[in-house]
Amino acid sequence: MNRFSYKDIYIEDGKRVLEINILPEKYCNFDCIFCPIGRSENKVDTQKSFEGMDSALRELDKIIEISKAELVFINSKGEAFVNDRIDDVIELIKSKGLPVRLLSNGYLLGKDEYKNIANKCDEVIGEIKVVTEEDFRKVQRPIEGYTLAEYISNMASFNKQYKGKFIFVITIIKGYNDDEESVKKLKDIIKEISPDKVIIERMEDERFKKKLGISDERFEEIKRSLGMVGN
Ligand code: SF4
Repeated sequence: MNRFSYKDIYIEDGKRVLEINILPEKYCNFDCIFCPIGRSENKVDTQKSFEGMDSALRELDKIIEISKAELVFINSKGEAFVNDRIDDVIELIKSKGLPVRLLSNGYLLGKDEYKNIANKCDEVIGEIKVVTEEDFRKVQRPIEGYTLAEYISNMASFNKQYKGKFIFVITIIKGYNDDEESVKKLKDIIKEISPDKVIIERMEDERFKKKLGISDERFEEIKRSLGMVGN
């Protein structure tokens, strides 16, 4: 890897957003069956060094200037914390006076070294996709020893001390969290994590939509139950 990859700049709430991937291929501590990036051999939760990071950082500096970005969104092929230069990426963006949004699945926010990195970001996104331990293991296939209870408490404890905006993304998946009992559990999880913003999504990826997608009606009902009218 000697460069990061970027999406075309887009406008969100009037701001020019630059989205950047800082991983050469998928590196994640989970291996979800519906991962849009595909299956992974690289299930990791410790940092790795990748080649070419100095030139990738120089290029990022230039791209920020040329694109006139107003917010940089680190949305990587997996768990961005795994890149051992993530701190330098964040520092560079901050040195240009720009806010940083970081996407993580949220599990590693419970570890001090990653929590300290996330604390430097203006916005952090954490996620949840299933509501039972069994489904967590079966569907998200995390590193051995991970539990859903710890996943939730990691995000909750992170957000208790975090000064920025914590955005919590819930994906509704048919057969896993779309029944009334699951919706109630999701409500409790939202309460425990206490995010600044909740986003409710559903499976939109064409490869999984038929099996795991829910109807418009049910989606609207769940959003209403979770207090997300108009979300
Ligand atoms: S957490 Fe995200 S990146 Fe990681 S395996 Fe699951 S869907 Fe893919």
